[in-house]
Amino acid sequence: MTSVAEPRHEGESAKASQPPDEMEALLRRQLELLGEDPVRDGLLRTPHRVAVSLRWLTRGYGMDVKKVVNGAVFKAKHENMVMVRDIEVYSLCEHHMLPFYGRAHVAYVPDGRIIGLSKLARVVEIFARRLQVQERLTDQIADAVQEVLTPAGVGVVLECQHLCMMMRGVEKQNSRTISSALRGSFRDDPRTRDEFLRLALK
Ligand code: ZN
Repeated sequence: MTSVAEPRHEGESAKASQPPDEMEALLRRQLELLGEDPVRDGLLRTPHRVAVSLRWLTRGYGMDVKKVVNGAVFKAKHENMVMVRDIEVYSLCEHHMLPFYGRAHVAYVPDGRIIGLSKLARVVEIFARRLQVQERLTDQIADAVQEVLTPAGVGVVLECQHLCMMMRGVEKQNSRTISSALRGSFRDDPRTRDEFLRLALK
């Protein structure tokens, strides 16, 4: 049977013709341990695809918040809450290496500086694209915004569904996990906190 060219996925083409690496050898062995035949047609290039995919899904390790945000912090007198809702989150739980996914709502109250709104989504991406637990991811997003912007306060809410709960173990298919991280005025000022949580959890 002649093999047909496989559709390329984003980021997959660059290393396609390189010799197999250690990660691919491990994945080939993993297929064997699962009782599969790693040289059958459909699985032949699976170790390569999975290795490329895993590196992409964990590419946040190679990203730096300050570099990503660089040039997108502006002086401004705005003093009201700025919020970006419904930022898509895709991450991998560090306990099972299975996806968890959902939405992030990120808000801050400026103190002389504002940030390009798309950069808040980039900050989420930097920390989501690693092996994570949702609680730490939430904290890291809040701390990063606090650090690059030194605003009066930061609030982050994540609502995620975890495949490790949905497709194995307890099989709680519709449960969502909600986590929050509050810094500065979001933690200390009840009115700011209430406004944020009302907007985030609606
Ligand atoms: Zn898990």
